[in-house]
Amino acid sequence: MAAQPTLRPSPLALARPEILALQPYEHAAWDPTLQRLHANELPWRAAEDLTSAGLNRYPEPQPRALLARLAALYGVPPESVLVGRGSDEAIDLLTRAFCRAGLDSVIVCPPTFGMYAVAARIQGAAVIRVPLKAEAGFCLDAEAVLASCGPEVKLVFVCSPNNPTGNLIDAGALLELEAALAGRAVLVIDEAYIEFAAAPSLARHVAERPHLAVLRTLSKAHGLAGARCGTLIAAPEVIALLRKIIPPYALTQQTIEAVLQLTDGRALEAARLRVASIRAERERLSRALAGCPGVTHLWPSDANFVLAEFADATAALARARAAGLLVRDVRAQPGLGRALRITVGTPEQNDRLLEAWA
Ligand code: PMP
Repeated sequence: MAAQPTLRPSPLALARPEILALQPYEHAAWDPTLQRLHANELPWRAAEDLTSAGLNRYPEPQPRALLARLAALYGVPPESVLVGRGSDEAIDLLTRAFCRAGLDSVIVCPPTFGMYAVAARIQGAAVIRVPLKAEAGFCLDAEAVLASCGPEVKLVFVCSPNNPTGNLIDAGALLELEAALAGRAVLVIDEAYIEFAAAPSLARHVAERPHLAVLRTLSKAHGLAGARCGTLIAAPEVIALLRKIIPPYALTQQTIEAVLQLTDGRALEAARLRVASIRAERERLSRALAGCPGVTHLWPSDANFVLAEFADATAALARARAAGLLVRDVRAQPGLGRALRITVGTPEQNDRLLEAWA
């Protein structure tokens, strides 16, 4: 007898009923073969408007060419892709679609990126903190996540490589966690820094795991933070749900054109070379920091930054500033009482920092 396919619960069972029922805003029809007298735009371009489509026109919502480009870049089908203003927007949309104000919760694993908790608070969702295991190199405490995952929890955010600690979270542990969470909560893996790690993205698993969602961004490895372009990779039904609540014209025409231009073959190859330079420079910076007199501990990093603990972090901050350099004070995060996060810069910038701390 043929094996029965296992029936997987839909992640939409976890979504807010009012969002499931929502009739989304009906934006002006998108049909470039017809002339537009339906969107109350001006028929002429502004003087000096050099964009190819013209800024007098509303941009294409969820532009097909951009979705196809990002889908190819991340190795997933376009129907699994939502594009928005940075991964920040995807974090916000997920929280708004899944968490009922005053009733639902998200789990975050500190020390980690602050936007998950901020998005939850804006939405009126509670934040449950399940710390990473500091003594074990900030690895995930999956057992504690599961133990904290009551019926009110809708989203579990895990950042890998984690900001600000820099470490990858074990992929096997994440996939096991997703399997255990299926039907209970959506596991959101934030891979903003994955290109700097020697590990593949988990995005390829989304097709067979509808409770897995992966965040990617062009802000880091692709050097396009100013373009504001981030991607959520998730089950097509989750993407369709979020398309109901994303503002109709989230991405500007300049962003659409710039991203299409700057993520093609040659630009991609250049980005790969820059990532390789940052990784080499990260290792050099780490080795040198380990020898700095004020540095008391250094964590290994899979990202484009390094986390270091100082005997006197206040003095280290002041010396960096005097050398014209800002580094990130992360001392407010649990377990990081004397730590600073240093973004890997150019060799010259890194040298200047090392000199300030020599
Ligand atoms: N996730 C992580 C872990 C980050 O560090 C950042 C930016 N600091 C973001 C997401 C947001 O990135 P963006 O909105 O630029 O895509």
